[in-house]
Amino acid sequence: MSDCIFCHIASKEIPATILYEDDLCMIFPDINPKAKNHWLTIPKKHIPSIIDLEKGDESLIGHMFEKSRDLAVSKGLKGYKLQFNVGEAGGQEVMHVHMHLLAD
Ligand code: 5GP
Ligand code: ZN
Repeated sequence: MSDCIFCHIASKEIPATILYEDDLCMIFPDINPKAKNHWLTIPKKHIPSIIDLEKGDESLIGHMFEKSRDLAVSKGLKGYKLQFNVGEAGGQEVMHVHMHLLAD
């Protein structure tokens, strides 16, 4: 998606501090952190919102949880909050699926 900021981050046209990356997903800090640790995990594939998930995307979303968990373990986080804002009415501002991880 040419006008999607998270697609631009995934393709590295817009810089971000990459905390983790593989073929399917990327994790980077939120530019406006709401906790000491505030990360965003995105699929590299453009999916606007959880509302738009299709059959076959389950493993991709599961992969995002797994890699976020692994990064949290490697950073020594004892616990954290995971959050998806879904749709404009759910507070979603960037229309590319992302999972917030928040830990103080
Ligand atoms: P939403 O409300 O859509 O769930 O959250 C979008 C999040 O993306 C916000 O917390 C916002 O601070 C973050 N964000 C927006 N633009 C950028 C950006 O260019 N880089 C990074 N790292 N985070 C961004
Ligand atoms: Zn996108």
